[in-house]
Amino acid sequence: MNLPGIATVFWSFLGILVLSLPDAALSDSPGGLLSVTFDDASRSQYEIGLSHAKEFGIRGTLFVVTRGCDDAAKEDAQARADHEATSEKDEVYRPSTWSMTWDEVRLFRDAGWEIGSHTHTHPHLPELDDAAVMEEMETALERIQAETGLTPVSFSPPYGDFSQRTLRLAMARHDYHLLGLGHLNGGQNPIDAVDPTQIDRLGVYTHTDAVSICGEIARAAEEENWLILMFHGFSEGEPGEYEIRADTFREILACAHDLEDRGHLRIAPIAEAAHLIESAP
Ligand SMILES: [Zn+2]
Repeated sequence: MNLPGIATVFWSFLGILVLSLPDAALSDSPGGLLSVTFDDASRSQYEIGLSHAKEFGIRGTLFVVTRGCDDAAKEDAQARADHEATSEKDEVYRPSTWSMTWDEVRLFRDAGWEIGSHTHTHPHLPELDDAAVMEEMETALERIQAETGLTPVSFSPPYGDFSQRTLRLAMARHDYHLLGLGHLNGGQNPIDAVDPTQIDRLGVYTHTDAVSICGEIARAAEEENWLILMFHGFSEGEPGEYEIRADTFREILACAHDLEDRGHLRIAPIAEAAHLIESAP
């Protein structure tokens, strides 16, 4: 199918869903909530993800692996110095580290994104003893505070991997514990029954299409759920494993933005969305 074809299906599909919402849901109720989350702080999340999200006025939560950003910042400083010493004046320097640097994380902060913790080194937490789990969490908190001035309250365990023990250690240091894999409800959290220790997310991967995600967003609006989407990487070309096309991301943002414009959905980072729910009458 060509792209205009997909867009037509998606808009008419969305139009039908929106028109089918009962009047009560349209007027009085606050509708659904949507949060966009990026895990790992990869370069494409900065180069592609942030600019597209900004264009639609959408802010989300960035879950940072702090050693990744530490290493990237060092590597990038060295590569920049080498570039200045060896290349021609008009050759533009392009950062190439896999993780984003702290400068780039700060651009998310400045754009109003929430900065969450995804540990210091991205281990399988249940395989570590208590001291090592606490070290992972506390180092990440300290590094994020030192580099952004923000205190993270949202925690995403690497690989979505946790046990009752790591959950308890995480909740002693954060307010919200996000799930990653093995979705309980496909990322749809009923607003009247949110469990801060098990906030479900829907992963958007290479083979996920925009139409199905837009359908999930419309469903969140209709059923008054808090839908949380989890993205890893983006590609302008053929997407790799865990990546989606930049175009697909734009289509998802467009339909979220459209529903927000019509008053059926609010879009907010994790902590803000949770506060909206907690402060609702
Ligand atoms: Zn991760």
